[in-house]
Amino acid sequence: MSANVHADVKADLARLDAIQLLSEQDNQAALKQLKEFYAQFNVETDYQVRIDTLRELSAAYDDAGDIAASERSRAEILQLAKAKNDKEVVALMQIDEAFRLRDAGKFDLAIAKLDEIAKVLKGSVRPENLMRLEITYGVIYHGASKFEQALSHHLEALRLTDQLTHRKALSKIRRLDTLAALYLSMQNPEQTLIVSNQAMVLSGQVDSPRLIARLRTNQAMALGDLKRYPEALVAYERALKAAQDANLPKMEALILSNIADLHLRTHDFVRAENMARQALKKAELIQDELSILNAKANIGFAVGGQGKVTQAMEYLAPTLQHSRDQGDKADLEAFVGEISRMYEHAKMYKEALEYTREQQKISNELFRADRSKTVAALQEQFDADQRKKQIELLARENQIKDADIKNSRLQQIVTLLGAILTVMGGIFIYMLYRKVKLTNERLEEVNQQLEFHSVRDPLTGLFNRRSFLEMMKDRTENASPERREEDGDSPDCLMIMDIDHFKHINDTWGHTAGDAVLVEVAKRLRSAVRDTDMTLRWGGEEFLIFAPNTKPPQLMTLVERVLKSIGSTPVIVGNNMIPVTVSAGYISLPFSGIPETVCNWEKAMQLADMALYLGKVNGRNRAYGLLSLLVPYEQALPELERDFSAAIKQGMVEIAIVQGPQSST
Ligand code: GH3
Ligand code: MG
Ligand code: MG
Repeated sequence: MSANVHADVKADLARLDAIQLLSEQDNQAALKQLKEFYAQFNVETDYQVRIDTLRELSAAYDDAGDIAASERSRAEILQLAKAKNDKEVVALMQIDEAFRLRDAGKFDLAIAKLDEIAKVLKGSVRPENLMRLEITYGVIYHGASKFEQALSHHLEALRLTDQLTHRKALSKIRRLDTLAALYLSMQNPEQTLIVSNQAMVLSGQVDSPRLIARLRTNQAMALGDLKRYPEALVAYERALKAAQDANLPKMEALILSNIADLHLRTHDFVRAENMARQALKKAELIQDELSILNAKANIGFAVGGQGKVTQAMEYLAPTLQHSRDQGDKADLEAFVGEISRMYEHAKMYKEALEYTREQQKISNELFRADRSKTVAALQEQFDADQRKKQIELLARENQIKDADIKNSRLQQIVTLLGAILTVMGGIFIYMLYRKVKLTNERLEEVNQQLEFHSVRDPLTGLFNRRSFLEMMKDRTENASPERREEDGDSPDCLMIMDIDHFKHINDTWGHTAGDAVLVEVAKRLRSAVRDTDMTLRWGGEEFLIFAPNTKPPQLMTLVERVLKSIGSTPVIVGNNMIPVTVSAGYISLPFSGIPETVCNWEKAMQLADMALYLGKVNGRNRAYGLLSLLVPYEQALPELERDFSAAIKQGMVEIAIVQGPQSST
């Protein structure tokens, strides 16, 4: 290849960069240039240039709403990649298939598809390909409300931007923007503000009003969630200006609707109406169905807030219909509740009752789904078989009782309202309704607080040591190894972990950051274990996993997964990326076929703790497991207690070592 050709490729890639930047400002102009660029291609045009151009074309067509043309470009990419035998790009084209599966509601299959692609990409030296995959994982998990998984993939994508040679800043801003939106879904507005600020700082390097509009919108939504309304308003106004500059009418409609919503929240109904009407005008201009409905609903509530309820219903009716037809049940319940409140506010109790009845009906349906959800949440922490009794008790005692109370209360209110309305009517009922509701809410709150603090660690929300001791109290009688074997059960596993150099983390980044690390470690542990495993905060920076009924091969993958979940991506706290690893010790219970009357769980824990210590001494970020004893217990125990590492060297016990991931810093 001559130097000349090489220079051409470089020039072509630079031209593409310029076009991509242009597309951030003016999609139509960029599309025109891309088409011209593409028309000049000939047999000698470089493969990478072709692929990149087609990708840009596909995205630009997509933005312009020309889906068929976008698909043609992608088909051409596939054809080229196949001819070139570029396995990575061929695999990446299957991302479309993953999205199709997701859209068909087949979430597990979509993820399996991505796992297949990941296998092809394993060991790839092309960060842009790896990043594309990580983003897709993140988007699909986010869509399925599996926020923690989404977060870890989006963080990995963010990390990969450092390895890019092209469009580094732009990619980084986009990744941060995605994270900001994810944190909004996770109801963590503080974190949204942090990452969108990071992105705003970088945004000086690229001129992209489109990204600015999105970032400012995320910021504004976070500020709104934090009830910092005046600041939210300023952010929305900036977002609006950027959206106008970038000629993005759909975005404009969304922002205007959001501003209207903000005014509704502060009961500034006149301003709300004005904004919502502007939003409607924009939405009608582009004939975007959902934006139109959204704007109309806001106009309705704004008009209703001004006391013009009949007029309000004209605006609310289409959205209500749409929501009844195909909307999310929870959304519908909230919407109907809003309408009921509007009538209540206007002292139109008969209508309020009508909507409260509908709300109750939906709430009943939701309640059925909710009940199984509540139980599932508990089961996540307890082993289904052994702890069935506790689950039933806990469920009955707490959450379900609350849900029941709430449900039957609502029923009572409706019946009461109905009964009284026929007799009396007027302001009295309204007062009564408010009071019942308030009392009930308080009761619920108190109950939840009580339950929460007695078994859970307030910082991380994990079960605490106390709840574990409580659970292990009645363990020994029914846990003989023979009995287990008869039942076809495997032993349970105890894994104790201690964060490496945690003092250093506190000293370097501060105690608050240390706390944030503990919270994140807890989250990661929870998502690394099976639904039937129990994760606890044992104390300080020590955690415990209790994994019932775990076969030896499962145990190995569990331990690997745990170390990986902690160590492979740094914890982001504010502007800092804090690398975190743990050391661990683990053991099975019953241990090595010894009845628990001889080696109980406390003894086993003590051995696991010593194994952990061995992991610390031998370099940290690793787990030491005790698999079985090779000499009788009576002989081994005193030796293990006297000098653990010597007893191992003497071959008294079979151990396993699991390495944590390589540092990600
Ligand atoms: P290594 O485990 O690798 O031996 O080192 P380490 O630095 O983690 O060692 P050590 O166990 O001595 O330090 C634990 C530190 O954790 C000491 C304590 O101040 C801190 N810590 C304990 N509980 C909390 C907490 O709730 N929040 C914060 N921020 N720090 C805590
Ligand atoms: Mg410690
Ligand atoms: Mg430690």
